[in-house]
Amino acid sequence: MCGIAGVFNSPYASQYAFLQIYSLQHRGQESVGISSSDGKTIKTVKRPGRVLEAITQSDLDKLEGNMAIAHVRYSTAGDSGATNAQPLVRETSLGQVAVVHNGNIVNYVSLRRELEERGIEFEYSSDTELFLALLDTGEEFIPEGLEIHPRDREVLPKILYTLSRLEGAYSFLMILGDKLVAGRDPYGFRPLSVGRKGKTLLFASESCAFDILEGEFWREVNPGELMVIDNAGIRSYRVLDAPKKAMCIFEFVYFSRPDSYLFGEWAYEVRKNLGRQLAREDDVEADVVVPVPDSGVVPALGYAQERGLPFEMGLIRNHYVGRSFIEPSQELRNLRVLMKLSPNRAVLKDKRVVVIDDSLVRGTTSKRIVNMLRRAGVKEIHMRIASPPVVGPCYYGIDTPTKEELIANRMSLEDIRSFIGVDSLKYLSLEGLRSCVSDRENFCDACFSNKYPIDVSRVAINRNRD
Ligand code: AMP
Repeated sequence: MCGIAGVFNSPYASQYAFLQIYSLQHRGQESVGISSSDGKTIKTVKRPGRVLEAITQSDLDKLEGNMAIAHVRYSTAGDSGATNAQPLVRETSLGQVAVVHNGNIVNYVSLRRELEERGIEFEYSSDTELFLALLDTGEEFIPEGLEIHPRDREVLPKILYTLSRLEGAYSFLMILGDKLVAGRDPYGFRPLSVGRKGKTLLFASESCAFDILEGEFWREVNPGELMVIDNAGIRSYRVLDAPKKAMCIFEFVYFSRPDSYLFGEWAYEVRKNLGRQLAREDDVEADVVVPVPDSGVVPALGYAQERGLPFEMGLIRNHYVGRSFIEPSQELRNLRVLMKLSPNRAVLKDKRVVVIDDSLVRGTTSKRIVNMLRRAGVKEIHMRIASPPVVGPCYYGIDTPTKEELIANRMSLEDIRSFIGVDSLKYLSLEGLRSCVSDRENFCDACFSNKYPIDVSRVAINRNRD
């Protein structure tokens, strides 16, 4: 998973992009990058690590120009560190282009092979490079009946050719000459919104990146929409269509920040609904509801309110440690759980505790947490998960492990309960999950249902996802 942000028409473009991408840090912690442009020259800084440590004021001073794009990257496979850090920048048939991308292009392997056979060179191992490589072919595509604004006649047909060849998930931002281009795949897998701050236009994966600038949310980039922005204004093109939308429901379960608005809803409300629904499906007797912070907090609130049980912080989080899942190796991940959470004995001792987490993926985090709770003297532990069992890998940009690594594919419910060591275990039902979003027909829940919106037998997995 990744986060992207963009700024158009501000003397503080790179500083704004920096603050925006900082507010999207939860979407990726492996590397960060910013490109800025004065309409002629693109300048880029990208480094491994987190935003505040990786980017300095002197970097920002060098990133001149009134537009900028930024990226935070998360990958747990392939080259980590700065190698595939974005923005990717390259000379193409349209001059120098910088691109940032969130999502996963599922036909990466075959498309790359085809382009390489045609003599197009690749520098990275990231699917995002396809945007630049396809632009470099110089090929054009104009859908029948599409009216193109005179200012876009040079660039649009080449961008449309690029998009027409890409399959899978992409929300992207591009700097191309004096233009900023924003787009979202026709399924709308990943979020992308537009905001405003005075005369400055802002783009971001999540609306929390507008709040950090005291900007306002304007609207989402629609699935299949392409927006071209330059000094003459904003032009929107409806260019691509899909049989239905497939917005990622896992964004609501785990990924997005609770204060963000995306996919037409407040993440907080959906997440709280998940907890409420979980409570409606449950009748276990307990004294207290305890969230696994931070991901379990909002659903636990919903659960506790629905059942009229006290909500208490029985696990305390050390805020100076990152998300445990983010570490690429299993061993470090295990250690990190202990670094991150400690038991609050004042709440836990001799209690029957309902522990709420957002999802169970490999099961290793829960096992550690349960050990910790037992040592703190709880009487009973009832683990409740605010989403259904994760059974399918994600091909669209969330790094779920392979099918074999997913605990729900390896064990029965009873085996999982005994593996993590709890008195009882219950997941939210799939139907219950679907009832928590208002536009239920237009979400992708393949990780919970194995129902993929794109035929997965044709998917060559690019493990080096962004
Ligand atoms: P585990 O069951 O040990 O694999 O860890 C699951 C926990 O990691 C969940 O409770 C989430 O808080 C978090 N998580 C779930 N999916 C992801 C993901 N794709 N990337 C990062 N963290 C995740």
